[in-house]
Amino acid sequence: MMDKTLAELAQGLKNKEFSSVEVTQAHLDRIKSNDGNYNSFITVCEAEALAQAQAADAVLAKREAPVLCGVPIAHKDIFCTEGVKTTCGSKMLDNFISPYDATVVKNFKQAGVVTLGKTNMDEFAMGSSNETSFYGGVKNPWDVKKVPGGSSGGSAACVAAGLAPAATGTDTGGSIRQPAALCGITGLKPTYGRVSRYGMIAFASSLDQAGPMTRNAEDAALMLNTMAGFDPKDSTSVDREVPDYTADLNNDLSGLKIGLPKEFFGEGLDAQTEKAVQDAIVVYEKMGAKIVDISLPNSKLSVPVYYVVAPAECSSNLSRFDGVRYGHRCENPQDLEDLYKRSRGEGFGSEVKRRIMIGAYALSAGYYDAYYLKAQKLRHLIADDFKHAFSQVDVIMGPTAPSTAFGIGEKSNDPISMYLSDIYTIAVNLAGIPGMSIPAGFSNGMPVGLQIIGNYFEEARLLNVAHRFQQETDWHMRRPQ
Ligand code: GLN
Repeated sequence: MMDKTLAELAQGLKNKEFSSVEVTQAHLDRIKSNDGNYNSFITVCEAEALAQAQAADAVLAKREAPVLCGVPIAHKDIFCTEGVKTTCGSKMLDNFISPYDATVVKNFKQAGVVTLGKTNMDEFAMGSSNETSFYGGVKNPWDVKKVPGGSSGGSAACVAAGLAPAATGTDTGGSIRQPAALCGITGLKPTYGRVSRYGMIAFASSLDQAGPMTRNAEDAALMLNTMAGFDPKDSTSVDREVPDYTADLNNDLSGLKIGLPKEFFGEGLDAQTEKAVQDAIVVYEKMGAKIVDISLPNSKLSVPVYYVVAPAECSSNLSRFDGVRYGHRCENPQDLEDLYKRSRGEGFGSEVKRRIMIGAYALSAGYYDAYYLKAQKLRHLIADDFKHAFSQVDVIMGPTAPSTAFGIGEKSNDPISMYLSDIYTIAVNLAGIPGMSIPAGFSNGMPVGLQIIGNYFEEARLLNVAHRFQQETDWHMRRPQ
């Protein structure tokens, strides 16, 4: 029962081939014996998981269970979980036990899905390598000397290593798609507003979006069915019907128009990564898709725009961590100012501090127009590029990341080079459209991700396009040794 997809596990549970307690125990055992190699979990919820599995088995016995009932998954440690520590990868929240569940977590619980544990991540989701976690870096299961990508690196690594059949992630500038690419799994960032952000610790509120990280597109569809939907508790969630994302998985792709932006195939792209992506495009052509050369002329501005907008929003969001209400508090503060300064100084790591300082600077009275306002204007131009592109094509494709996983420590002293890991993913968040990464080959033994970008609320189309590729190829079935 290990190494099965969510769909297979759900079927096996319905057929009584195994129980939820057995599946859950098997995954807990594997986490216990193997996660020392990867550090992909911050917290393993053994007792809670087994209790949830028992409850799921009772529901399954009655034969009226939701599709995913009894299947275990892991949650990125950015989602609040009632009664279980939620750290966001930070010392600041090392002692934080949430009094409530995030909507995403609640939806899965109501569907009878078991929570195996909380996965490691870059501190407050800031990073592309998982090296900024207070709990230590995560290692890539394909090569433990390499990073898994970030910030949802723990989720990506645990799925790639077979410690969990699937996991949740969040993506502000690429944090689902880039680690999915680097670990050889499937990851989907939905349209902004599709999935509730309630109880998901905020990094950059206008960009953050939760999504599934799975072995294949079918599983991503099953997870999105449970995750998506309007939530009155999140004023940015969209009140729009949730389709059955599994319904269109097998639609024929003949006549599909695929846009290839010239900006995604230029300087800085590793040659073998490009080759894998081009080979994937050929697979689509064989399925009857038409290739259209397009341009996203403002996409080159996406990294600089993001590094104004995201820090600005994070400097505001993270001001709540003040040592007063919850989270880390320094010892023996002399006065209120000392309490603020030392609690924040001790609780946050250096990347988080860098972002808060950049954001506070960009928002300050003298610089607001020059940086923040300008970035917001450019953000519109970036979104307009996509609008124009989607008047010509159905989906856009390209690499998810400019290279495969890099070595641990290789970029940690060079923030700009680290920031460029997300050069192909960030524009998607700035526009608020959905994007996906699926396994599409290897370069030097490390997985390559193909990125598929769609128009607003076109998740079903992305999943269809991804699923059909996975019927024709077996890249998504490859496992690390
Ligand atoms: N790597 C980007 C950053 O460091 C994106 C992170 C994310 O999507 N959460 O901000």
